[in-house]
Amino acid sequence: MFDNLSTKLDKAFKTLKGQGSITEINVAATIKEIRRALVDADVNYKVAKEVTDKIKDEAMGRDVLTTVSPGQLMTKIVYDELTQLMGGQKEDVVMKGDPAVILLSGLQGSGKTTFAGKLATFIKKQNRTVLLVACDVYRPAAIDQLKVLGEQVGVEVYSEPENKNPVEISQNAIAYAKKNNKKVVIIDTAGRLAVDEQMMKEIEQVKRAINPSETLFVVDAMTGQDAVNTAKTFNDRLNFDGVVLTKLDGDSRGGAALSIRAVVEKPIKFISTGEKMEALDLFYPDRMAQRILGMGDVISLVERAQQQFDEDEAKRINQKIRKNQFNFDDFLSQLEQIKKMGNLKDLVGMIPGMSKQIKDIDIDDDAFKPIESIIKSMTPQERSTPEILNGSRRRRLAKGSGTDIQQVNNLMKQFEDMRKVMRTMNKMSSTKGGMAQMA
Ligand code: GDP
Repeated sequence: MFDNLSTKLDKAFKTLKGQGSITEINVAATIKEIRRALVDADVNYKVAKEVTDKIKDEAMGRDVLTTVSPGQLMTKIVYDELTQLMGGQKEDVVMKGDPAVILLSGLQGSGKTTFAGKLATFIKKQNRTVLLVACDVYRPAAIDQLKVLGEQVGVEVYSEPENKNPVEISQNAIAYAKKNNKKVVIIDTAGRLAVDEQMMKEIEQVKRAINPSETLFVVDAMTGQDAVNTAKTFNDRLNFDGVVLTKLDGDSRGGAALSIRAVVEKPIKFISTGEKMEALDLFYPDRMAQRILGMGDVISLVERAQQQFDEDEAKRINQKIRKNQFNFDDFLSQLEQIKKMGNLKDLVGMIPGMSKQIKDIDIDDDAFKPIESIIKSMTPQERSTPEILNGSRRRRLAKGSGTDIQQVNNLMKQFEDMRKVMRTMNKMSSTKGGMAQMA
């Protein structure tokens, strides 16, 4: 997703020449490029203009430090602004009351029912009992669909196929949940293909009657600007609490994620990235911004390095990244430093390719031990030239470090991913400006 946008932003940064500070003249073309990239990514024009104006204000007159190139500085500024644009902080679903009630709204086909199943799975994992409620009184198929999903994820589904009154059904469902000790009730309502007055009235009535602790609006990210308009219409009527963006796996433009918060002033709380029940993620504005920029993870890593590590070590590592010489000795030295800094999970999450794998895991200080022992089992030559680590050498490492071949292979893969990102950064810097003066 967002491939187009990040490629275009890359290009925009390259137009910044390597001057000592950012001025009106050298930033104008870049700002224009960024704005075009955002609009092309289906970001609402007004929002794109506002954000690029802010970026410009931020950038003007900023001195470019010796350790940071203008391109890097701009990347950081754009990253900060995009993060802000998407709300800054992650926001959780509010589950208050006994049972806590979550009301889902959105157009037909938005992925509402699929999301209901995913959310139920997500909440079940927190050891709370869940009841799914089928409140679509128009399409019997919708009730069946939810039942199938419920069965699949092991969550009971409440329905009243003969009852055509969604207010009654939801009230009865809540009473049923109370009686049967279900702690969270998720209500899937009827959607229409387009916004329509009766649907709006109906869901308004349901909301008023049951007073949910959370009302979520589900919207298909692939519909771009329409997603933003629909969100606005629903919000005007429902005053919902949060947005769920679905089908982000198929959306390479992603403008909806950028505009929705700015236009409706409600946070995106979840993103859905596939039809599988596990394909649900909490929405982190900063991570999304990093993803949009393509290389944000490494930048924050370098950023932290510059804040916390001694300047010489940071410079040394930056030099090596620049020359494509980053090796296992450097990796180990970074690990040592990271360990000193605390907040391990946060930091590991910045290593490209790692954040997804660690998001559900608790990391303690022993987490790096296997990695360290594998690297320490390497010969100096293997550390400096990881390419020579063939199958038999890897088996030896596994044995020597008390790990298994899978762990060694994982480490090699992570290391290779990391180097790939570094090479991409370097490629960007091979033209003038860009990321050129990293050290
Ligand atoms: P509803 O009418 O709003 O309840 O929408 P559904 O949950 O029935 O979803 C409509 C279609 O979108 C179905 O074919 C789903 O499998 C599909 N779908 C839902 N969420 C996602 C997603 O995150 N990614 C993709 N690729 N497809 C999705």
